[in-house]
Amino acid sequence: MRRTHCEGIADVRRREPVPLPQHEYPVDPWRLVERRFSERFLPRTETLFTVANGHLGLRGSHDEGRPAHEQSTLIAGFHETWPIVHAEEAYGLAKTGQTILDVPDAKIIKLYVDDEPLFLPTANLLHYERVLDFRAGLLERSLVWQTPSGKRVRVRSRRLVSLRYRHLAVIHYEVELLDGDAPIVISSQVVNREDAGAPDDRPGEFDPRVRKLNARVLNCTDHRLDDGRILLGYRAASSKMTLGCGVEHQLDTACAHEVTSHVTEDIGKVTYIIEATAGTPIALTKFAAYHTSRSVPPRELIDRAGRVLRRAVGKGFDTIASEQRQLLDDFWDRSDVQVEGDDAVQQAVRWNQFQLFQASARAEGSSIPSKGLSGHGYEGHYFWDVEIFMLPFLCYIEPRVAENLLRFRHSMLDKARERAREMNHAGALFPWRTINGEEASAYYQAGTAQYHLDADIVYAMKHYVDVTGDTALLYGMGVELLVETARLWADLGFFGEDGAFHLFTVTGPDEYTTVVNDNAYTNLMARLNLNYAVTVLEDLQRDDPERFRSLTVDLALEQSEIDQWRRAAEAMHVPFNERRGINPQDAQFLDRQVWDFDATPAEHFPLLLHYHPLVIYRHQVIKQADVVLAMFLLGNEFSLEQKRRNYEYYDPLTTADSSLSPPVHSIVAAEIGDEWRAMSHFRRALLMDLADVAGNSNHGIHIASTGGVWMALVYGFGGLRDFDGHISFDPLLPSDWSRLCFPLLVRGSRLVVDLTPGCLTLRVAEGDPLTVTVRGERFTLALDEPVDIPLEPRRAAADH
Ligand code: BGC
Repeated sequence: MRRTHCEGIADVRRREPVPLPQHEYPVDPWRLVERRFSERFLPRTETLFTVANGHLGLRGSHDEGRPAHEQSTLIAGFHETWPIVHAEEAYGLAKTGQTILDVPDAKIIKLYVDDEPLFLPTANLLHYERVLDFRAGLLERSLVWQTPSGKRVRVRSRRLVSLRYRHLAVIHYEVELLDGDAPIVISSQVVNREDAGAPDDRPGEFDPRVRKLNARVLNCTDHRLDDGRILLGYRAASSKMTLGCGVEHQLDTACAHEVTSHVTEDIGKVTYIIEATAGTPIALTKFAAYHTSRSVPPRELIDRAGRVLRRAVGKGFDTIASEQRQLLDDFWDRSDVQVEGDDAVQQAVRWNQFQLFQASARAEGSSIPSKGLSGHGYEGHYFWDVEIFMLPFLCYIEPRVAENLLRFRHSMLDKARERAREMNHAGALFPWRTINGEEASAYYQAGTAQYHLDADIVYAMKHYVDVTGDTALLYGMGVELLVETARLWADLGFFGEDGAFHLFTVTGPDEYTTVVNDNAYTNLMARLNLNYAVTVLEDLQRDDPERFRSLTVDLALEQSEIDQWRRAAEAMHVPFNERRGINPQDAQFLDRQVWDFDATPAEHFPLLLHYHPLVIYRHQVIKQADVVLAMFLLGNEFSLEQKRRNYEYYDPLTTADSSLSPPVHSIVAAEIGDEWRAMSHFRRALLMDLADVAGNSNHGIHIASTGGVWMALVYGFGGLRDFDGHISFDPLLPSDWSRLCFPLLVRGSRLVVDLTPGCLTLRVAEGDPLTVTVRGERFTLALDEPVDIPLEPRRAAADH
């Protein structure tokens, strides 16, 4: 039966969030707190309690190593390759699979008292608390265990991945007998989980978004003890990437003790046998350092890890922890988004922001996997998530990191050029998902066909330049990116008989509608890409003719190409349906049958796990924001009325089967004045992992969603728009909140935006004056001269 798309849009199409119970996970504005050990929530809490620095990540598995769902320790970019075997080969399909690898896991510290192991599920715990502290950058667990023989033991561990020393993780582990004397054994281990024959802790459910390699992956080149320090070296079997790892311990106790150490190819162990007496503290500090490379031999990497260890041991845990705290104080000064009126929202906002920071802070020479370094979901691949969902936050808060990420993209340009040649295109075609620059998406319909990635990169670069004013990056590597991406669009598209420029057989952001003609998002973003290339090259020719000349030589660039890009942009076809007054998602989208949401059981979402792609593709059903995303990113190209009509059409068709959808739908709902939908989408984004909204938080954090949360706060409720670098605000403070306040770094000036009911206060707290527009009126803001702008309540959304 054919249905109209507005029928049956109730929340059955979406999995219900499963919040953590508040009596066990109490609200705290600066910490995520767990008051009771829970096996039920463990797969999720391992993800939530991750500590990382953008280079190295430790999932929040418990010190004892069991029970565990997945115990990953991950390093950005450290991966194995494997040949993709297509059941039916075709020319140009992706050839090289890439999968992020677990590096040896140094989290393990096992405790035995009177020969009884501490095993959380059965232990008699008189006290238990686990805390991820957003200001300290620490994961801390403290408990009091009553052993079967009746002794009480206090155990406290603190774990950090250093933001200052990107190769270093440290665990400080304290044990104290509260009564009686007893022998205590502490077995501290480092385990090569890829190969150590540990039971497969990833359950065997079907999910194409995770992969486990079966053959031996890390070939051990070195395993030795050097003055008690465990040193391990490996080379990945196929990618040949190398790894050096070192683990060192310091024990501090007045109790008598013995130490034994032992190392094999896959396990290093240091065992302390201690005659513990009541009230005498035992403190073990465990330092772990990792270095990885594409070319440097493991032995040399081990030396480097050794140097990191020496420096760390010299400093000791307390100094490293206080340096960590200082860096985080600085981060929160620059970034804290304050929400008053709902403490649980405030806590969740900070958790999201903290994880975004942890995923990005030291991403140097690599990018940010879609799960950060918190799990194996999507195999550690980099997607457009970085450019479209993380860069906005980074441009305004951590421009140095944003720049690094753009430079990293640029470092893949040669591979993208090769891929374009392979695909019979001019210019450069960036891979849809990758670690090493090669296309790793075997499923081209929702992979390589997502040509929009080229334009997403350019969009992100333009945004970075507009917000930071860093034209050096633009006129350096930026112009190369512009030329090669513009070439791609000019080559991919064609002028039709209607005189318009068309882009055929592409896939837009919505992966439930693939290989289509004239996807509106793609065409609009490609137009921006072409126009920006033309403008920047014209500016360069005028302002720096020498650089322009050398560029034309280096890239064999002809004036005729630039003219062609201009013509293509001018003639770019933008689908529009006069009858409905909306932008069709693509040329055929509106001809398809509307998905029957009423007939779809709630457990059939996400649809991709329950229906053959062909079933999904022949319907009007959307995985994630597509036209709606274009209306946000290119909001100055749509009228408000147009946005309303498009939103009313597409929002009910969108399943939100991708975590990338809710924040974008929240922003556009806020813009059209629909507070209810803005808030309901915002909550889904905010709780994506905390309440396991997508049902797969066990695979790792949805990092794009954490970026989306910031965007929904700042662009959605804060009403920021920044087209071509012009800063404007049209806020919508949710009625439940009494205040929303956030800082932004705009071209070196710090702007503090403070929204309370009926008033927007803007203050330049640092740097040069800024000119901004609020609801059409211009204000020039001088240093430390706050301006209060009274705000009338926003016009409500049109009835729908
Ligand atoms: C989304 C993509 C996204 C990827 C990684 C997929 O489910 O459809 O747009 O890039 O997840 O987050």
